Amino acid sequence: MILYSLRCSHDHQFDEWFSNSAEYDTRHAAGSLVCPQCGDTVVTKAIMAPNVGKARSAPQPSPACGTPMGCGGCAFAGQH
Ligand SMILES: [Zn+2]
Repeated sequence: MILYSLRCSHDHQFDEWFSNSAEYDTRHAAGSLVCPQCGDTVVTKAIMAPNVGKARSAPQPSPACGTPMGCGGCAFAGQH
C-alpha cells in the first residue's frame, strides 16, 4: 500500500491509500479521485507521504534538548 498526499485545485490536501502507483494512475485517469472537502475531481499528487505500509508510524522527532550545555550530555546526543 502507498499513501499519497493529494491536492485538489482549491488547494485542499488529503491523503489516499493506493495499492500501487498504477492504481493512482488508473483512478486519476478515471476521475474517481475526489476531494473530500469540496468534491473537486481535479486532483493532483502533492508531496509523497513517507509512510509506506499499514502502520502510520511517522518517526518521532527528537525532543528538544533541555541541557544548557548543548547536546553532548543529553540522551539524544548526535541526533539533533
Ligand atoms: Zn477541494
